[in-house]
Amino acid sequence: MSDKPLHPRTRAVHHGIRRSQYGEMAEALFMTQGFSYDSAEQAEARFINSGPDEFIYARYGNPTSRMFEDRIANIEGAEDAFATASGMAAVNGALMGFVKPGDHIVSSRALFGSCLYVLDLLARFGVEISYVDGTDIEQWRAAIRPDTKAVFFETVSNPTLEVIDVTAVAQLAHAVGALVIADNVFSTPVYSRAIEQGADVVVYSATKHIDGSGRCLGGVICGSRHFVREVAEPYLKHTGGAISPFNAWNMLNGLTTMDLRVRAQTDSAMKFATAMEDDLKLPRVIYPGLASHAQHDLAMRQMGAGGTMVAVDLGSKDAAFKAMNRMRIFQISNNLGDAKSIVTHPTTTTHQRLSEETRLQLGITPGLLRLSIGLEDAGDLIEDFRQALA
Ligand SMILES: *Cc1c(COP(=O)(O)O)cnc(C)c1O
Repeated sequence: MSDKPLHPRTRAVHHGIRRSQYGEMAEALFMTQGFSYDSAEQAEARFINSGPDEFIYARYGNPTSRMFEDRIANIEGAEDAFATASGMAAVNGALMGFVKPGDHIVSSRALFGSCLYVLDLLARFGVEISYVDGTDIEQWRAAIRPDTKAVFFETVSNPTLEVIDVTAVAQLAHAVGALVIADNVFSTPVYSRAIEQGADVVVYSATKHIDGSGRCLGGVICGSRHFVREVAEPYLKHTGGAISPFNAWNMLNGLTTMDLRVRAQTDSAMKFATAMEDDLKLPRVIYPGLASHAQHDLAMRQMGAGGTMVAVDLGSKDAAFKAMNRMRIFQISNNLGDAKSIVTHPTTTTHQRLSEETRLQLGITPGLLRLSIGLEDAGDLIEDFRQALA
């Protein structure tokens, strides 16, 4: 055996497995909230200091959840990970566990609605937040101060697919000792090199590409062992943000096929976006893999691919609704990263709570459709969209 590091796809199948005395092949589902001790002394000792394979209570940790944490941390290139009940529990845990009143955070403005809610919550507790246009490095430079504690952004924003330059933002943040927290859902762990590029903490909604079949909610915080175990975990384990072992078990299985799925979905997304632009001649097709995307070069440098999400503008809400109602394969829903292709109208659903002014500032026009490309045949998806527009 050579010492050549294993490919992430190999690690995604094997890493982190813990086998019981039965030697089961598949990852075991330890559907238990508690653990029994051999003696009162052992219970006492474990509450003082529990080792990596010693568990107390599933809100603190569980063998199945730990397998998922080890596997995703390994794929992401992070020292450790804490698995959470949802992506939002991960965003909340990474931020709330870290900041205190009076701290200053700089955040990209183009965020998922619930991420904006968490930042509003922090502001309510006396954290100062400065919002910037995340694609403009000069705005980051102007907003980051010597006392800035953290920067936060979605590496690829929802739903307009703006790409944030992780390396450039991290350089500015690290110059003042600020922590870089990246919500990396749209990049997916397959195309992420966020830690190598300078992110300190990477959060995922595992609900999306990690599960990949739209079954379970889950999330994960990846980072240094210190951040994960000393900052995020105490907050999450005491406030009830841990993942269910059942969901962690589904996520573990999701990771084994994630690379294949996400690459196939990305190939189809590229074909789909190309057809929208070249054949259907839609005036506004947003896909980081297309040369027409404003940050195409950055996307290629940072991720090496365009990802699984596409956005198109049909000009008006009426045109968007008509097309959605005619689609047969694309399902009208609001998840993403699913095996089933999904069409979402952000203005009236995921981003409904924003003011019209903010929506337009973010490029969320009334005719905009967000498309999550699934595992169906790309030709069938293109044809479904074509007939919906006819
Ligand atoms: C879905 C999503 C979340 C929230 O994840 P949940 O699992 O739904 O809680 C956070 N950030 C981004 C970018 C998302 O797409």
